[in-house]
Amino acid sequence: MEKQLIIAIDGPSGSGKSTLAKLLSERLGHLYIDTGAMYRTAALGARRAGVDIDDVQVFAKFCSELDISFTIEEGKVKILLRGEDVSGEIRDPEMGILASAISAKPLLREKLVELQRRIGEKGGVVLEGRDIGTVVFPQADLKFYLDASLTERAQRRCNELRQNGKEIELKEVLEEIKERDLKDSTRDFAPLKKADEAVVIDSTNKGIQEVLEEMLGYIIDCKFEI
Ligand code: C5P
Repeated sequence: MEKQLIIAIDGPSGSGKSTLAKLLSERLGHLYIDTGAMYRTAALGARRAGVDIDDVQVFAKFCSELDISFTIEEGKVKILLRGEDVSGEIRDPEMGILASAISAKPLLREKLVELQRRIGEKGGVVLEGRDIGTVVFPQADLKFYLDASLTERAQRRCNELRQNGKEIELKEVLEEIKERDLKDSTRDFAPLKKADEAVVIDSTNKGIQEVLEEMLGYIIDCKFEI
């Protein structure tokens, strides 16, 4: 019998969480949930509607009406804002900065954490973000904390953006990541933090395949049936 696991992957921007969570979920036949995409989508929604996120009443109304969902098209997970596929638009670096600001708001976190728990509670999921092992699923079967040097993470993000047709300088990406890391790890609510029992993997000098095998190794070592 295949066990339906809850696997938590946390770490800073560009540490390889998305790539590895995707690959791992494919290997295990689990659902992949990118929680960063949810905060990015909330940020996009707020920007489109011209919401002042510091206006308590306006922000509460925005959160209560926020409609974010996932769909799978041709094997790919897409994120929807009020039913519209915004998977491409939210990848803009500007959305990363806005997501970092809006994600510090407890009201939004409450709403998205509830949604993440609802999607993942039955297991068979790989979730990636900043607070999965600490807040969303502290009872996860396995927790990973991925890291890499700042330069390496910026270089990876830069390559990814360029591959998607965006003209961008490494320096710009480096500054953006640095700013987000600082905000994400120093905020009051659910800051980016390694869960006590998380397996830490530094991927600075490692290829994706190597890290994937290492992660799968931990899963097997824990005597889970894959
Ligand atoms: O993972 P990604 O870089 O797309 O996330 C964008 C932003 O969303 C992060 O910088 C962080 O501020 C926020 N986030 C969060 N909690 C999560 C996932 C992402 O606060 N679980």
